[in-house]
Amino acid sequence: MSETSVVGEPALPQAHMHLVPPTEPAIGTLVESYICTKGKSNAVVRHISIDVSGTPLAGQFLAGQSFGVIAPGFDAFGKPHKVRLYSIASPSWGEDGGGNVLSTTVKRVMEEFKPQTPKDDQEAHHLFLGVCSNYMCDIKVGSEMKVSGPNGKRFVLPIDANAHDYIFIATGTGIAPFRGMVLELLKNPNGPTSSQVHLLMGSPYTTDLMYDDLFRRLEIEHPNFHYHVAISRESPGKVGLECRGEYVDRSFGRLMPDLTPLLASDRALIYICGLAGMQTGIFKILAKQGLHQPYITLKPEIAAIDPAQWNDEQIKRHIRPTRRCMLEVY
Ligand code: NAP
Repeated sequence: MSETSVVGEPALPQAHMHLVPPTEPAIGTLVESYICTKGKSNAVVRHISIDVSGTPLAGQFLAGQSFGVIAPGFDAFGKPHKVRLYSIASPSWGEDGGGNVLSTTVKRVMEEFKPQTPKDDQEAHHLFLGVCSNYMCDIKVGSEMKVSGPNGKRFVLPIDANAHDYIFIATGTGIAPFRGMVLELLKNPNGPTSSQVHLLMGSPYTTDLMYDDLFRRLEIEHPNFHYHVAISRESPGKVGLECRGEYVDRSFGRLMPDLTPLLASDRALIYICGLAGMQTGIFKILAKQGLHQPYITLKPEIAAIDPAQWNDEQIKRHIRPTRRCMLEVY
């Protein structure tokens, strides 16, 4: 089966790309910055909005694309910091309705240093702070910042939104593009979509959920929008180490009775965004249900193997998503 032969594949809009190169960044202004997790969480995640009016980015980005940020200063080798890409969390008309303010979802990277090479101090384990994420979370409203982009052309909504139904699957900050897409579908100035929209969100704890109030409100307002959360480190009635929650692929499997008619139709599109490896369980479930054909292409090396036995490496090498399955995992 070739990628182009899939029934129901979407016609995508022509996305503008690289209008602003990172070597000659444009100047945007931070206009909003707030913590967008649900409760008191160890993870610090901010919703950040940047005014890009007057730059080539204005009005030229689509929900699902990303953009670049160049932190000021120099790296350990004395070179200027490299561009970092962030998913756009706004609909295509931005936060302002006119495409002049784009937003993103930034998690502060805070990790213990891990030696990368034999030359590194093997005993070192000091706190390491990600440069760009902490820069973006630290700066105040009114600060100028260097931006580039847009980037990406495939992880976008189809031209005819009502011709498809949607299954969005996120882990962590992979929710960013889906905030934009869900708003684009449900709060469209031309009226809300009549399509079925399912959003599956995976988080370690309930307190880590991002934009949770927004999605719950939208679910009440729009009967065709369905919001499902998978919490990996909480389990009702259990505490401590015995507490095993649910990964988002398990929720996907649990929802099969509801999702099968959608997945089996010619209308459904699957979008997956977040941690690398999250697609493994999803592909296995699709295959186990015999629903995989429109969404993934199996190379001969894996076609004869029982899907339950597929491992990450085999999936990476021998499975390709079709045009009805958009995958953005890092
Ligand atoms: P996080 O808060 O740690 O949440 C990730 C959730 O996924 C946790 O509940 C985790 O469970 C669970 N999980 C771990 N392995 C999984 C697997 N194999 N299948 C399903 N669920 C799994 O996430 P985060 O720190 O925000 O990280 C988000 C990731 O998304 C980052 O790697 C980021 O680079 C990426 N991202 C990509 C894009 C893009 O491609 N455009 C955009 C935004 C973010 P446990 O931790 O309990 O095991």
